[in-house]
Amino acid sequence: MSDLLQVRHLSIEYASPRGIVKAVDDVTFSIGKGEIFGLAGESGCGKSTTAFGISRLLRHPAQISGGSVVLDGQELTTLSNDEFDKLRWSKISIVLQSAMNNLNPVLKISNQLIDAILAHDPSMGKEARQRAEQLMKLVDLPVDRLDSYPHELSGGMRQRVVIAMALALRPSLVIMDEPTTALDVVVQNGIIRKIVELQKEFGFSILFITHDLPLMLEMCGRIGIMYAGKLVEVASREQILQKPRHPYTQGLLNSFPSLSGPKQRLSGIPGHTPDLIRPPAGCRFCPRCSQAIQECQTLPPPLVEDAGGQIACHLYSEEGIAREQASAACE
Ligand code: SF4
Ligand code: MG
Repeated sequence: MSDLLQVRHLSIEYASPRGIVKAVDDVTFSIGKGEIFGLAGESGCGKSTTAFGISRLLRHPAQISGGSVVLDGQELTTLSNDEFDKLRWSKISIVLQSAMNNLNPVLKISNQLIDAILAHDPSMGKEARQRAEQLMKLVDLPVDRLDSYPHELSGGMRQRVVIAMALALRPSLVIMDEPTTALDVVVQNGIIRKIVELQKEFGFSILFITHDLPLMLEMCGRIGIMYAGKLVEVASREQILQKPRHPYTQGLLNSFPSLSGPKQRLSGIPGHTPDLIRPPAGCRFCPRCSQAIQECQTLPPPLVEDAGGQIACHLYSEEGIAREQASAACE
């Protein structure tokens, strides 16, 4: 699978009265063409901030302080706002949890969809209405709902309109940040099924963000786990389910009711996430990690690529593996 999106050493920070908050620190991952890639982690771990950095939605004072974001061969971080606006919706679009509440309350759905289409492709003229009708059908909404105002639709229907809008210009990457979290479970399931179906039909890539790990494991082929602004592990769904490697990933999986196997006690992870203004000098997970070794306190583990994906943990460095083998041999 060739890469559509390459995020390299991305760092995002913002100034606060207490100091600089390193909200995203040296994050590297890529998303293939037609892939659904997930970013998981507790709230505040930097997953939404990463998405906002990629899609240029960071608000002052947050800013990209380093790294690069390349979409389909084009560097995004150095584009002017005008240049980026040309790509918004046509190459990259975003669906947020709150998007359904951001539809303009005084405009009919038809106007909002048609405006979005015409803003990028004025040549469409009258065909824009036809395209809006097609889009309604795509997300299983009755075409006559085009003439409704947002308040006349349920939350689920409005979120379907937002998804239709995000797909209007056939982008190659759709970022979905908690797209169904505000909806009840039945509505949520219907929308998720629809998203997967549309993705299969049109082959766009998705960066899917949710705190709902079981949902993520159902949807995404590969998953990145973030902790305290760092990407700590990237692996296939199967590997995360069967053999999570990073101690934080293991803890996260134990915090959810049994995903596959028999019932077990939820252990959760003791302790708190660190202060991102003065993070621990070594591994940011060290104060909560039951497997920490000496260097974890002083040396931040680099994110390295290996046969299993990407991992940032001293246990998986060459020395760590050698030590484990040596101690296994002594037993
Ligand atoms: Fe735990 Fe050390 Fe790995 Fe961090 S680097 S997760 S502290 S073992
Ligand atoms: Mg978030």
